[in-house]
Amino acid sequence: MLERSSVSLPYGMATVQELQDRLRRPLAAELAAGCHDRIVAGGLEKLLASPLAGPFPQVREVLRGYAGMEAGARAEALRAALGVLDGAGKKGPGRASQPAPKPAVPQAAPGERLAIDAPVERLNTGPGGPRKLASLGLHTLRDVLHAYPHRHEDRRALPDLSQVEDGQKVTVMGTVVSKFRRTPRPGMLILEVVLETPSGGRVKASWFNQPWVEKGLREGARLVLTGRAKKFGRQTQLAVEHLETVDAAQDSLSTGRIVGVYDAKEGISQEFLRRAAHRALETAPPDDYLPAHWRKKYGVTDLADALWGIHFPRDEAHLRRANTRLKFDEYLFLELRMLLQGEDAVLQGKRFEARGDDIHRFEAALPFRFTNAQRRVLLEITDDMRSDRQMARLVQGDVGSGKTAVAACALYLAVRDGYQGALMAPTEILARQHYANLAGYLGQLDVRVGLLIGAMAPKAKLEMQTRIAEGDVDVVVGTQALIQENVRFDNLGLAVVDEEHRFGVQQRRRLLAGRPDVLVMSATPIPRSLALTAYGDLELSIIDELPPGRTPIETKLIQDVHRQQAYGFVMGQIRQGRQAFVVTALIEESENLEALAATQLAEDLRAILPEARVDLLHGKMSAAEKDAVMERFRAREFDLLVSTTVIEVGVDVPNATVMVIENAERFGLAQLHQLRGRVGRGSAQSYCVLIAGETSLKTRKRLKIIEGSTDGFVIAEADLKLRGPGELRGTRQSGIPDLRLADLANDEEIIVQARELAKHILAHDPRLEHPRLGYLRSELQNRSQSVAYREVI
Ligand code: ADP
Ligand code: MG
Repeated sequence: MLERSSVSLPYGMATVQELQDRLRRPLAAELAAGCHDRIVAGGLEKLLASPLAGPFPQVREVLRGYAGMEAGARAEALRAALGVLDGAGKKGPGRASQPAPKPAVPQAAPGERLAIDAPVERLNTGPGGPRKLASLGLHTLRDVLHAYPHRHEDRRALPDLSQVEDGQKVTVMGTVVSKFRRTPRPGMLILEVVLETPSGGRVKASWFNQPWVEKGLREGARLVLTGRAKKFGRQTQLAVEHLETVDAAQDSLSTGRIVGVYDAKEGISQEFLRRAAHRALETAPPDDYLPAHWRKKYGVTDLADALWGIHFPRDEAHLRRANTRLKFDEYLFLELRMLLQGEDAVLQGKRFEARGDDIHRFEAALPFRFTNAQRRVLLEITDDMRSDRQMARLVQGDVGSGKTAVAACALYLAVRDGYQGALMAPTEILARQHYANLAGYLGQLDVRVGLLIGAMAPKAKLEMQTRIAEGDVDVVVGTQALIQENVRFDNLGLAVVDEEHRFGVQQRRRLLAGRPDVLVMSATPIPRSLALTAYGDLELSIIDELPPGRTPIETKLIQDVHRQQAYGFVMGQIRQGRQAFVVTALIEESENLEALAATQLAEDLRAILPEARVDLLHGKMSAAEKDAVMERFRAREFDLLVSTTVIEVGVDVPNATVMVIENAERFGLAQLHQLRGRVGRGSAQSYCVLIAGETSLKTRKRLKIIEGSTDGFVIAEADLKLRGPGELRGTRQSGIPDLRLADLANDEEIIVQARELAKHILAHDPRLEHPRLGYLRSELQNRSQSVAYREVI
C-alpha cells in the first residue's frame, strides 16, 4: 500500500527521470506485444496526449499517427521513441555552452592525491562538470568511483560484418562517409549514414523520425553505434539504439577497449562520465577496507584492481574479477548492517514456555492433522519462543500450505503463557479473513479474538483499543492501524505479520521496537539465496508441502488468437455457478494506465459475455471501494471480476474456479504463480488460463514452466534463472535494497561467504572498534547513507 501511494503522485511532483521511466514501460510493452495498439486502453495516442508525455515532445512527434501506421512502421516508430527516451542523455544539445561557474574549491594539482571523501569540485572535470555529476547524485569521489557502468560493450574489435546475423545486437564504430535524409511521406523522416569501419567494412545505419540526431552526423564524424543488425543479402543495416560521438582526442577511454556504459541523462555524455571515473581512479586510489588475509581467504581481488576493472577492464577476466569483488562487498556490507541492526533484538525478547501439551490441545481442536512440514516449522518456532532471544522468523510457504494454521498455534501458545498476540494483515479485507480464520481456530479454545481496522466506527474502535490496553482481549487482528494508531497493548508477546513485502522493513522495525517475538508470513516463495539477502536479519522456515487431498489447478497456455475459446470456457464455468477472475496486463508503475486497461477489458467482456455479471477492481480505487468489490464477489453478487494485479494478495473466494491472465508474457513467473493461487481454494477442480500475446520461443519456454509445475519454489528458481543478470525487478518488488551488481540467481556462493565473514567480523569485534577495521567502519557508514541502502536503515 505504501508503494501504491508513492506511485500515484501527481505528475507535477515526479522528476523527468521518473516520467521518462513511466512512459518507457507502456511503449516497451507495446513493442514487445507486437504493436497491435492494445496495450494502452483507448490507443497509444491517448497516452501521448496525457501529461505523462508532456516533457517529451520528440516522443509525441515520432509516434504521431500511430493508430494509422502499419505494423512495421509502428515497430520502427516505437523503437525510435524508446531511443529518444533512453538516449536523451547522449543526444541532447546539453547546456555546456553556458558560462561555467568559477570553481569555489581548489582543484587537485596534477599528481596530487585526494581523499576519497573529497567533493567532486576537487576533480578536474571541466566546465560544468561538478554540476553534471551532482545532478546524477554524485557528490564525492567515492560516489563517482561506486557509480558503476550498468553494462559493458566490447569495442576492442569490430565484429566481422559478414558474420553478423540478422537480428543480432552489435556495436560498431567508424567514420561517417556519407549521409542521406529522406522524407518518404509527410511527417516521416529517415536519416541514414554509411559508416566506414577501421577495417574498411561498411555499414548503413538509420534513424527514424529523430531529426535532432542529424546535427551529430556530419561527414567525417567518428561514431560508436549500437543497434540491431538487419541483413539484406550481403549488406548490413543497423537500427540504432545507442549513439555516441567520440572525440578523437579523448577516444582512448571510449574506443578500442571494453567500455562501460553509465546511467546518464540529458546533456551528460558517456565520454564525460568515463573521464570523471578515470580522474577519480587516478587521484583517489582507494584504501582497501578488506585486510589482505581475508581477500586471500575468499579469493577476491583488491579494491583498486576491482574499481579499475569495473570502469576500465583490461579484459574479460579483469571485469569478472572486479564484479566478484564488488559484489562481495555489497553483500558484506548488507549483512553487516543487518546483523548490527539485529544486535539489540538478539539480546532481549519474550521467553515463553510453549508447552507441548498446549500444542496437542491446539491440534486436537483442528479438523485435520498438521503436515510434516508444518510440524517441523512449528518446532523451529517453539524453539525460538522458549529462548530469551527475540524471535525474528520468516515462515515461507505457498498459498494454502498452512502458514496461518501454524501461526494460530504459536499465538495460542503465547496466550497460554499469559501474553497477548497480534496479527497484522496488509489490507482490511485480509484482516477480516484472518479474523474469521483465527476465530475459528482459537474461539473453541477459550481465546478472545478481536478485530481492529480503520473502517470500524470510532466508538467500536475506541472500545477495542480499551480492551486491548486492559488485556481484555487475547489476540488482535488488524491492519497497520495496529501500529500506526495509538494502540497500547497490555502485554504483547507475539506479533505475526502477514505478507511481509507489503509492509516493508520500516514498519517491521517499528514493531520490533516493542520487543515482542515476531513471526513474518510470506506466500512469496523466494529462493533461498534471495531470502538470505532480503531478510538477512530473519531466520527462515519453509513449509514446502501442501496439505493432502488438494486437486492441482489445471493450467493451460494459449495464444491470444484463441481468446474467444478461452472465454467460452469461462462462460461454461459461470453457467455451472462458478466465478472467474480475469487479470489484465501489467503496466509497471502506471496505475492510471492499468486502470484504463482494466476498464476497457471489463467493457469488452460485458460485450463478449452478455450473460455474465462483470465487475471491476483496480489500483486507483480507494481501499474501501476495493474491499467492497471483493466482499460482493465473495457474496456471489457477480460472476466475473476483471482486475489489475491488486488481487495478488491472498483473498479467499472458494467459489472462484477460473483465473484468466491476459498478456501473461508480461508477468514474472513467480507473480503468475501468485495470481494462480487465487483459485483452487475450494474443493472443486480449478483452472488457470494464460493468454499469451507474444509468441517468441523464449516466452513460450518461460510460460511452459508455469503450465508444467505448481511448486512455487521450483517456479521461483526458474524465474530468477531465466531473467538476465541485472534485471532485478523482482528484487525491488520484494523491497530489497538496490544492490547494484547483484545477480541473486547466481550469487548464492558469494552471499554465503559474505555472510560468513560478516558474522566472523562481528563475533570478534561487535562494534567494529579495532583500528584495523577503521576503513571498513567508515565505508559501512558511508554506504548506509547512500541511496542504495536507504531502505534498510
Ligand atoms: P496459508 O496461510 O499458508 O495460505 P492456511 O493456514 O490458511 O494456509 O491454510 C489453508 C487451508 O488449508 C485452510 O482452509 C486450512 O484450514 C487448511 N489446512 C491447513 N493446514 C492443513 C492440514 N495440515 N491439513 C488439511 N488442511 C489444512
Ligand atoms: Mg494466508
